Amino acid sequence: YSTSAAIEEPLTPSVKVDYTQLLINGKFVDSASGKTFPTLDPRTGNVIAHVAEGDSEDVDRAVAAARKAFDEGPWPKMTAYVTTLHLRLKDQGYFCALLICLKNIMMKLQHLRLGIMESHMNRLPKLKYQWLCVFFRYYAGWADKIHGLTVPADGEHHVQILHEPFGVAGQIIPWNFPLLMFAWKVAPALACGNTIVLKTAEQTPLSALYAAKLFLEAGLPPGVLNIISGFGPTAGAALSSHMDVDKLAFTGSTDTGKIVLQLAAKSNLKPVTLELGGKSPFIVCEDADVEKAAELAHFALFFNQGQCCCAGSRTFVHERIYDQFLEKAKALAVNRVVGDPFKAGIQQGPQIDTEQFEKILRYIRVGVDSGATLETGGERFGSTGYYVQPTVFSNVQDDMLIAKEEIFGPVQSILKFKDLGDVVRRANTTRYGLAAGVFTQNIDTANTLTRALRAGTVWVNCFDVFDAAIPFGGYKMSGQGREKGIYGLNSYLQVKAVVTPLKNP
Ligand code: ADP
Repeated sequence: YSTSAAIEEPLTPSVKVDYTQLLINGKFVDSASGKTFPTLDPRTGNVIAHVAEGDSEDVDRAVAAARKAFDEGPWPKMTAYVTTLHLRLKDQGYFCALLICLKNIMMKLQHLRLGIMESHMNRLPKLKYQWLCVFFRYYAGWADKIHGLTVPADGEHHVQILHEPFGVAGQIIPWNFPLLMFAWKVAPALACGNTIVLKTAEQTPLSALYAAKLFLEAGLPPGVLNIISGFGPTAGAALSSHMDVDKLAFTGSTDTGKIVLQLAAKSNLKPVTLELGGKSPFIVCEDADVEKAAELAHFALFFNQGQCCCAGSRTFVHERIYDQFLEKAKALAVNRVVGDPFKAGIQQGPQIDTEQFEKILRYIRVGVDSGATLETGGERFGSTGYYVQPTVFSNVQDDMLIAKEEIFGPVQSILKFKDLGDVVRRANTTRYGLAAGVFTQNIDTANTLTRALRAGTVWVNCFDVFDAAIPFGGYKMSGQGREKGIYGLNSYLQVKAVVTPLKNP
């Protein structure tokens, strides 16, 4: 890691944050309790803003608004064409709205605790377009193409299958990509005609409020999109167990996913899609170009400070190239530029909060104690904020905690393998199945691995490619259902069979 980038002088917010209240029925309002909570700058731990703290009473109000907008309001009854228009920014609507939003993010970056803050600042212009607006554009394209079927059935009946919106969608998102998760959740739900109550993560409440304001300006009717800032066990649990929420979509940890699934089941059995944790293998095969493989493996793990559910957090390297790979991987980590993400040239910023920071340092200690070799890093970076040195462990064994549990930080674990049979078995020996990476020039090897790996996404010679059309989701304890692409629509559509006799009896 490079110490060249100064973090001693973090920028301090000088402009006030515009939207800190809850968004209910098209208006920004205080929470029923009047309570607020601070949102902190991960570079310093300083307060950026105090945000209204939603709880069950606010969730009730938001769900009632969403229900009214669904039952009475124009949203689900609008023709698909109109929906498309709305989604297309009332003529480029959301797309522009989001662009404006992102432009403002560029200008006011230091004031808003946004997804980008945890991301690669220098890649922002490209990322912002690809990773966010594209989801609204993509699902706007679907809005007037969602239609049912007529099916031939035995007997003298005309059978229509209607695809209808579910109703009120409850959505709970995490902090690692606050705006991206907002887009993944909101775009398909709206395109299918649902209304929404979205609970943001307590660490990152600001960006969704800001984006939502632009949606209101683009003409989204009141009540269609409601946003609750607040904590999981209060606001999140209230939403999960609400009797008038028709559908729940959650992204977060596997442990919390189990809780929300239980709450949904115990209340009104609302269907739930879950996008949960991972411990994704990144497999570097014998024939790989070692330099390129090391670079991609590095990106697969360190991107966004390692705070990715699909991070390639088990780097399996073939024994023949293991030593060579290790040298490269170590050099990349040593040279990774850590510092204030608002400054140019910074590759790694702080972790999101003190809990994550402490947890990562704990895992590093566990890694050392369990006998893995600490090649570089392992400590806090600097003395303020939640920065962790880019860390590489070699000689990692399958049964070590660092090879089994999600660290969610800049800690690469490198494991050695002998042959394809060995690596397939070991890569699949995990409770997770979110993603996997394969690096090889050999098409037979690629085919063997892509079919054998039990994961919702397998990236071959690439990683973290998130086109809106590509479905994303997990096998095993990494989740249920899929987001993005055509599969993402299924989560937000009910199927109704309408059967009519061809001749009246
Ligand atoms: P992490 O541990 O990475 O913060 P979580 O799964 O706890 O991940 O958080 C993801 C989202 O789930 C956040 O919006 C959080 O507030 C919410 N959440 C946490 N606990 C609960 C809960 N008991 N019920 C509903 N939502 C929750």
